[in-house]
Amino acid sequence: DYQIHTVRMSLNDNSNIARARYIPVQKFLEMGTSGRISFPSVLFSMDTSETVQTKVGAGFSGGYPSWEIQPDYSTFGPLPYKTGIARLIGDLYKGDGTPIETAPRYVLKRVLEEYKKLGYRVYGAFEYEFYVFKETAEGLEPAWKGLHCFSETKQSQVEDIFVSLLNGLSEMGAGPEVANTEYGSGQFEVTHSPFWNLEIADMAFYYRTSIKEILHAKGYKATFMSKPINDMSGSGAHLNLSIHNEKDQNLFDDASAPDGLSDFCRWFIGGQQQHARALCALVNPTVNSYKRLKPYSFAPSTNTWGYDHRGAMIRIPGQRGVNTRLEHRLSGADTNPYLSLAAILAAGLDGIRNKIEPTSPLQNQDAYHSDFEPLPRSLWEAINVLTMDTFFKEMLGESFMMDYLTLRQAECERFMFHVTDWEIQEYQDIF
Ligand code: GLU
Ligand code: MG
Ligand code: MG
Repeated sequence: DYQIHTVRMSLNDNSNIARARYIPVQKFLEMGTSGRISFPSVLFSMDTSETVQTKVGAGFSGGYPSWEIQPDYSTFGPLPYKTGIARLIGDLYKGDGTPIETAPRYVLKRVLEEYKKLGYRVYGAFEYEFYVFKETAEGLEPAWKGLHCFSETKQSQVEDIFVSLLNGLSEMGAGPEVANTEYGSGQFEVTHSPFWNLEIADMAFYYRTSIKEILHAKGYKATFMSKPINDMSGSGAHLNLSIHNEKDQNLFDDASAPDGLSDFCRWFIGGQQQHARALCALVNPTVNSYKRLKPYSFAPSTNTWGYDHRGAMIRIPGQRGVNTRLEHRLSGADTNPYLSLAAILAAGLDGIRNKIEPTSPLQNQDAYHSDFEPLPRSLWEAINVLTMDTFFKEMLGESFMMDYLTLRQAECERFMFHVTDWEIQEYQDIF
């Protein structure tokens, strides 16, 4: 029907790198519904560097065996902005058919299974911010300049970006809702409609790839780094979330409560706060993520929540009824949506099960004030917190956690021993 000649099978790895293999459509059709293609396990022992590292992780036998990708046919869709190519998300298995427990999509599926057993369904969407650059003779320049967030004139100058993104994303099925420029020069935000359960992360995963590809085809470069430009706003991946029961009632809503939030919602927030510091290491996975978590930047730096408070880690937007939800502001745009959703849901479940009360909500208070518990200031600090944590190890799996920590530690150490431009500028002349 779609005149597909090539199929691209993709998945997100433990370092949040989208990996893919291409298959000609004939071979794809021959595979049938149970066919698999091979995938080198060594890719899962790589952090964000381009170099393959050996001996990392717990899950490695040392021989780097081949794994297999099994397509999830429910994710099939043509790429509207690339005629003849279809995409599909796959799951990883060992040759003997057992799932790879360190794969982010599997980690999320496990947590979602817990929710399903309790009759809960998860509804939500990630809201990505990202920067767009254009190629010039002097190198990459922000696609627009000046600090004119939402300026009609500025936005009209980059209308080609808005139009191609909105058209391309609508065709690929993500249903974009609104697009605008953000606070930083070259920064954009495009939100999309909410989805259920696993699709929340699948969509976020494909959204990021799609935005990069749509803009690449037009000669732009989009980046989902959390903080690509010094002194400019960082890019967040806020997660809008509500939990529903099988009768499709929103469990976060309680019309009889003074603030309209149910006990269930409060406990869910309590769980986020209880685990916030370790959670930070899971949803902010890079050295760069921590440069976004800067006071007074609308990104959180403390373990706080509040009603419509944009300095807090969790903001409760004003809507109630079916739209009662929380906006989890901790994740940067470089977050792995599978791991982020899995970790946030795991923390929420702990809150619900143990009826964990959150702190009092921020009223007219400064969220960046030192009265509040600080979030980790660096990847190193966050990893150390996560290393000591037993909760996420149990909820997300021990082998996953060992691999994750090993990779993030390797990434962090490469940075710690690298001399940066800042140090040269700061110290070279004076010492
Ligand atoms: N850029 C901010 C962040 O990193 C969010 C700004 C906003 O509220 O839109 O989370
Ligand atoms: Mg925003
Ligand atoms: Mg937001």
